This record gives sequence, C-alpha cells and structure tokens, in this order.
Amino acid sequence: MKVKRIIKTSLLYILKFLGVFKLCRYLTGNSIRIVGYHYVSIHDEHTRFPSLFLDKASFERRLEFINKKFKVITLNEAVNQIESRSIKRNQVVLTFDDGLYNFKKSAVPLLRKHRNPATLYVVSDYMLSGLPVVTMILRDILLKTNLTKLTTEFYTLETPVIISAAEGQRKFLDWAVRFSDGLKGKESKLSFIKEVSDLLGVNSDQIIANRYWHAVSVNEVVKLADDGFDIQPHGHKHTDVLGAVSDVRANIETCINNLELLTQKPARDYCYPVGLWSKAVWPLLEQLGVRSSVTTLNGPNFVETPLYALRRIMDGEDRTQLEFEFEMSFLKWMIRLPFSPSLLYQPSEKLVSYKTSGKGF
Ligand SMILES: [Zn+2]
Repeated sequence: MKVKRIIKTSLLYILKFLGVFKLCRYLTGNSIRIVGYHYVSIHDEHTRFPSLFLDKASFERRLEFINKKFKVITLNEAVNQIESRSIKRNQVVLTFDDGLYNFKKSAVPLLRKHRNPATLYVVSDYMLSGLPVVTMILRDILLKTNLTKLTTEFYTLETPVIISAAEGQRKFLDWAVRFSDGLKGKESKLSFIKEVSDLLGVNSDQIIANRYWHAVSVNEVVKLADDGFDIQPHGHKHTDVLGAVSDVRANIETCINNLELLTQKPARDYCYPVGLWSKAVWPLLEQLGVRSSVTTLNGPNFVETPLYALRRIMDGEDRTQLEFEFEMSFLKWMIRLPFSPSLLYQPSEKLVSYKTSGKGF
C-alpha cells in the first residue's frame, strides 16, 4: 500500500511538473468546479475521520490554491450561468454538507479571510434538535475507547460484543443508534450517550462541550444567512431519496420550509443525502420547486450538465494537497472519458451506499 502511494505521488509530481495539471485545467476551464466538503476540524477530528474532515491548515492550503487558480463564485451564480448557458472560465463553488457547528467555528473564519462565498447544506432536524448527531458521536466514542470487549449487561444489548473488531463495532453501533432512536426527549438521549461513553471508558463531556457533532443552531443559521452565507436544504432528516415518494417529499419539503422561514431567502438548491440519487426523483424535485441538486460524483459541470445531477470534487484529509490538485485538474475524468463517453455531461446514477468504513455520510 505504501509503495503504491509512493509511486502515485511520484507520478503526480512528474505530471504537475510537466504542466499536465495546468493543461487539463485549461481544457476544462469552461466548466464549473464544485468542491464538496463535509467538515473542518475544531481540534483533531480529522485524525479519526480523515475522509470526512480536513485539518484547518490543510483547508487553508486548499483555499490558497483555489483562489490562485480560480474565481470562487456563489452556487446561485453558478446555477444562473448554467441555466443561461453561458459559463465564465475557471470558476469554483464551495459547498459544505450536513450543517454541523464546525462550519461556523473552523471554516467560516478562513472563508472570511479569503473573502470566499460558500453554501452550507443543512439537515434541519439536526439544527432543531440541539442534540449531537447520535451515529457520529457514538462512532467517535468507539474510536476513542481502549476496551476490546463488552462483557457487562447494558440495557437490552446482548453481551459479549467484541468491539475491537469491525463486525462487533458495527453490531454495537446499530444497536445503540436503534436504541437511541426509540428514546423520547433530548435529556434521555444525552444521558444514554453519557452512559455509553462511561461504559466504554471515554470522557464524552469534552466531545459534547466542544460541539464536535452538533449542528449549527437556529440562531447561528440566521446569523450565517445574514452574513451572506448560502443556506440550502439537505433534508429534514439525513435520509436518501430512494425511499417511498411520500416520505422523500415530506423530508425535502419540511427542510425547505424550515430554512426559508428562518433565512427569508430561497432554499431550493438541494444536496442528495448520502450521495445516493436516481433520475426517478427528478419529477418530485421539480414539483417541489427545487432548482439544483448536487451529487458526490466527480466531474466538471458544463452548460449541458443536468441541474439535478451536478458533480462535485469531494475533499478530505485522506488526500494530500497534490492529490487534491490532481482531482481539480480533471485529468482522471479526461482519461476515463474515451472509455465511457456518457461521463461527458452527467454522472451515472448512484443507487448503492458507500462502504461503511469511515464514510457513511
Ligand atoms: Zn450529508
């Protein structure tokens, strides 16, 4: 694995040195690049979730590169340009998924420093509940524990569970999330999280106090919108669009209504949760007045790219700055194009989930 990475890095350096990245950026300059972030670390979250988080220093390096090579525009401007079929050259849109507090705490100061606009896709239930995202805080606690096995009886959990193995972790997590879902009220959920962390010998007070897994609050969303950040819907709950039509409709509609009421601005640019999407949902999006929707699939956005299948370059600490610059060049996309010409304007539908290892969002 290590050797493979060294070979890849060396090859990328050579390509960059030869000006291949620059040439590819030039050749795809008439497309809009949408960069997709999840989170920027408050402290060291990227060490535990490298595909979801970026360290602040890495995020700033990304912004420096982007601002040197491209013009950062709003998502609204990008959609307007695609709709009017006239895209200006070398433009980038910055998006952040899930609407967690770290956006305000870690990303916003750097975005302000570089005077870059950005879109935050908010899950309105996370925002309204005032609770940390249960799945993620439990995963964090599991990653921090030194225990290898649970032998005590705990709520309705069947014991023992080998939590040092991936299978055991998954089993424990599934059980804990289901159990927490069944609890009523904020306090009972919080005390359950506390009991889980005590059982696993992890201090969750800091995780809660630092709001690693909390969403931005209602007041923070209003303030961000007033400050010019673009607040857009990611669903009331973080569920994909492949379920029953009535559920999908209610989920998107509730989120749009919640956000528009708060920000007094249109919230019609959607982000597919978990990256799953299908063309079958497009008529529903149209009925709901949704104007655009972003996927997690890589590629450039041209005037021909459907607005309900916008492509993004997803970024995280698991890729180096050089690998990010490679992704931004679209060289990989250009190499794949002759073998799958359908990749030219739109990504293929994504109907199956990510592998559970480390992604999940
Ligand atoms: Zn998400």
